[in-house]
Amino acid sequence: MTTFVEQSPPQDGGMWPYPLYELTMAVASAREPAEIFEAALNALAASLDVERASVLLFDAQGVMRFRAWRGLSGEYRAAVDGHSPWVPDTKDAAPVLVEDVHADPELESLRPTFDQEGIRALAFIPLALGTHLLGKFMLYYAEPHAFTEWEVLTAQTIAAHVAFAIDQQDHRESEGRLRSVTDALPALVATTSVEGEIIDIDESYRQYTGLTLAQAQDWRNYQVIHPDDFEQAMVLWAEALASGEPLQNEMRLRRNDGTYRWHLMQAKPIRNRDGAIGRWVTVSVDIEDRKRAEARERYLAAITNSLVSPLESGDLLAEIARQAVPTLADVCTIGLFDETNQTVRVETATISEAERPFVEAIHLRAWRLHLDPARTIGEEITAGRPVCVPDATEAWARSCAPRDDQVEAALSLAPRSLMCLPLLARGETIGIVTFATTVSKRPYVQADFDLFVEVASRLSIALDNRQLYESLQVAADDLRHANAAKDEFLGLVSHELKTPITMILGNAEVLERRLDELDSASRSAALLDIHGEATRLHRIIENLLVLARLEQGVFVDREPMLVRRVVDAVVKDHRRSFPTRRFTFTWLMPSTPVLGSEQYLEQILRNLLSNAEKYSPAAAPIEIVGSRNTNELIVRVLDRGPGVSDDEVDQIFTPFYRSPATATLAHGVGIGLTVCRRLIEAQGGRIWAARRSDGGSEFGFSLPLAGDDEEEPATSAN
Ligand code: ADP
Repeated sequence: MTTFVEQSPPQDGGMWPYPLYELTMAVASAREPAEIFEAALNALAASLDVERASVLLFDAQGVMRFRAWRGLSGEYRAAVDGHSPWVPDTKDAAPVLVEDVHADPELESLRPTFDQEGIRALAFIPLALGTHLLGKFMLYYAEPHAFTEWEVLTAQTIAAHVAFAIDQQDHRESEGRLRSVTDALPALVATTSVEGEIIDIDESYRQYTGLTLAQAQDWRNYQVIHPDDFEQAMVLWAEALASGEPLQNEMRLRRNDGTYRWHLMQAKPIRNRDGAIGRWVTVSVDIEDRKRAEARERYLAAITNSLVSPLESGDLLAEIARQAVPTLADVCTIGLFDETNQTVRVETATISEAERPFVEAIHLRAWRLHLDPARTIGEEITAGRPVCVPDATEAWARSCAPRDDQVEAALSLAPRSLMCLPLLARGETIGIVTFATTVSKRPYVQADFDLFVEVASRLSIALDNRQLYESLQVAADDLRHANAAKDEFLGLVSHELKTPITMILGNAEVLERRLDELDSASRSAALLDIHGEATRLHRIIENLLVLARLEQGVFVDREPMLVRRVVDAVVKDHRRSFPTRRFTFTWLMPSTPVLGSEQYLEQILRNLLSNAEKYSPAAAPIEIVGSRNTNELIVRVLDRGPGVSDDEVDQIFTPFYRSPATATLAHGVGIGLTVCRRLIEAQGGRIWAARRSDGGSEFGFSLPLAGDDEEEPATSAN
């Protein structure tokens, strides 16, 4: 191996610029690699006066191959094919100069080949881009040749030009190949600079976004990335540009109709032959369908979870509506109906509060179906059929909304697609659920409708189960209370029955054993006791029997009767039992007959008088006042006892209720007033209790007038 001999460049120095200028012009306009090589060989020939030269490049397998040559035979090329002093990743390769192949022992084996071809001297000039080796130039001489520094420098200069041109051509070639591949891909492809600015976009990108290259370069302005995904996209992009690592990210990209669709964006750096990043290529594949399928699955899983959670029904509806927005709907609303088919509860989730009126308008259920103006959405829902509107156009809103304000509401919200579904429980429509897209402008597809049908059916089952469970709970509570009340009642009744019987038996025994010894006053007192206790016993048993009969649904027939006659008889009876009690008995009107049962009326009066007797001081009078209004006759029993507190005026009519304020004043079972209320109601009247403003209680009842004109005279009796 020989190094070059020291020698000055030619004195005229004028040989350099022209061939190099030609070379530069030639490579700049070259469209094929062969044109570059041709220009290189021309430049070598012109600059170095060498007739034979060749250009070799590493192929994809790293083997040095002839790419262009001048004055070389096919045999020679075949014999030295692949021969190279360097391997592909050799860094900073230096020229190798062989002044005489006969003097170089390393080329001993190739000597016959050189001789055959008439080659005595050789130069290997590396074709390198920076430190990266692409291939080599070869210069061949027929005689031994001492290389000058100038010759080597010239060859190296040409080599640098050619390496650069080859690299550029590679770029163009790979970009051309990339373009033809990407244009055929169902993906949006953009090429960016190392700074991340768009240089080029492919046809799919152009069509999908509807943007020109210039507009695409201004992508921030055109909101190509969904505002919600923008920040993350920017952070990841900046990281990738800084690290040079490939990037993968999911984000929504704006389509030419303004809707956003999910894309998987992958960005890859494209490196030059010297290893530096020259470009980035981003490829975005539409994954909207996959995303939506995932969202549907997630929603179904989430609502199934909520449906089995212990949420209260209202909260459950709100939760289910909330989970649908924004992935599956821009608006979701769920309404429940009462027995009269009115919407009683509406839970709404929307991406914007402004959408509520539209939603509520839909829930008025009067909306017509544009397919069949004779039917309404409400009718369809009530009949248990879902209503699907894939294209809720403006015309649809105008033809459907029953009122002008609803048209306005619908137009302002511009629903894109919607679906209303009935919620059914055992064949009955108990509510309506609506899913709609508005601002996202996303149309619903069959898979969405299928999902909503599934959601509505699961929700229906859950609501039905909850209702059943709640009514079972109430029934179980009622049973528990009834059982406890029955136990309490039995204890109370047996005590209440036992007390008068003990008194009656005691007095009867005394009379029987000591009848002759007793004076007449004691005998009368004992008999009066027996009579009083027997009356009480009678009342309790009578009340129990009436209650039992009423529970079984047995009612007596009503007929016209004169109330005053019944009151007279009951008061007369009562007086006999309580001869010392003062009564005031006032009729404020000529009363007409009422519709009712004398037997019931007697029972009511006895109970009320007996209570007045029990709960008011013996010296205070009991008043009975009769009056009437246009269609009722009213009887009030007034006493001067402790009265009834305002919060007990209803309670005292419930079975077994006894006020703590009066419990010590008299015995009782707590069914007298219950019986009174049931008997009054069975006759179509009302009953009430009140505290008298000047002390004591008022127990009043009314009975409907019979409409007959048989009048009773207004009187007053003491
Ligand atoms: P009982 O008298 O056997 O307890 P009732 O059903 O007749 O049962 O009355 C229920 C409750 O109403 C009584 O326990 C008492 O507390 C209250 N009450 C009834 N009548 C009067 C009255 N005239 N004055 C004050 N409280 C009364």
